[in-house]
Amino acid sequence: MPELPEVETVRRGLEPAMVGARIDKVEQRRPDLRFRFPKRFVARLTGQEVVGLGRRAKYLLADLSSGEVLVMHLGMSGRFLVTQGGRTRVPGEFHAEAGGESAHDHVVFHLSNGARVTYNDARRFGLMDLVPRAELDTSPHLCDLGLEPLGNELSGEAIARLFRGKRAPLKAALLDQRLIAGLGNIYVSEALFRAGLHPEAAAGSLATAAGKPRESARRLAEEIRAVLSEAVEAGGSTLRDYAKTDGSLGYFQHSFRVYDREGERCATEGCGATVRRLVQSGRSTFYCPRCQRRRSPVARTVPLG
Ligand SMILES: [Zn+2]
Repeated sequence: MPELPEVETVRRGLEPAMVGARIDKVEQRRPDLRFRFPKRFVARLTGQEVVGLGRRAKYLLADLSSGEVLVMHLGMSGRFLVTQGGRTRVPGEFHAEAGGESAHDHVVFHLSNGARVTYNDARRFGLMDLVPRAELDTSPHLCDLGLEPLGNELSGEAIARLFRGKRAPLKAALLDQRLIAGLGNIYVSEALFRAGLHPEAAAGSLATAAGKPRESARRLAEEIRAVLSEAVEAGGSTLRDYAKTDGSLGYFQHSFRVYDREGERCATEGCGATVRRLVQSGRSTFYCPRCQRRRSPVARTVPLG
């Protein structure tokens, strides 16, 4: 499933092909993806200029000259192919993919600059919708989303405010999209490891009773932002030419420090412990039992006044 950094990489890959271009023609090849396409989808897009391409959590948001926004979500297996000047590339493709069968090309945008942007989605959990710009934040897609983890709003203070008094495990709180939007299993495991926090620790333990951030909250905020931005940077350098038969692994998968490394030696120099896996809410969490001890965050940090 594409995670936040991949979606941001897709956005950066689509931006030069789409922004400033007019949509000359749209091929819509089926009535639905996860949901039905909105009414008059093709007519509402045709002739519109794409004036901007933004992102909120894992939604891509194409601003149109009509005042509507084309809302796009990649779901489990969605991806875009950009064909321009006879070359095709797939922005944001970090992982092994099940080929690029054109039977799964569901929407094709033909742009005035000659680019062709194809949406391919084998499992069809993706989504496309059209929403008036003024109603975007209150639309069902975005209205319940928590704060944006790649932006400056994610701070120790914000985490303390969101997690204060919560008994839920840290891992579950971080995956709760109403608190922080767009974090998935991989990057939560990685950020907790880097911050030295146990995934089963109570979320509320990162805040004082008064709702102030402990040092662990600041550390976690920093590591979330770091792990995501490093991933976006890594993704940017993998915007590579795409061959139809390519099923090779994106190198980014190799740089995870704990994710999917059960039984391997911890990446921390001198640690020597073995990475473990535990299952929380039906999903795997990977952690180092030595670097991420279940001790009170108070005990392991120096109080700051
Ligand atoms: Zn370790």
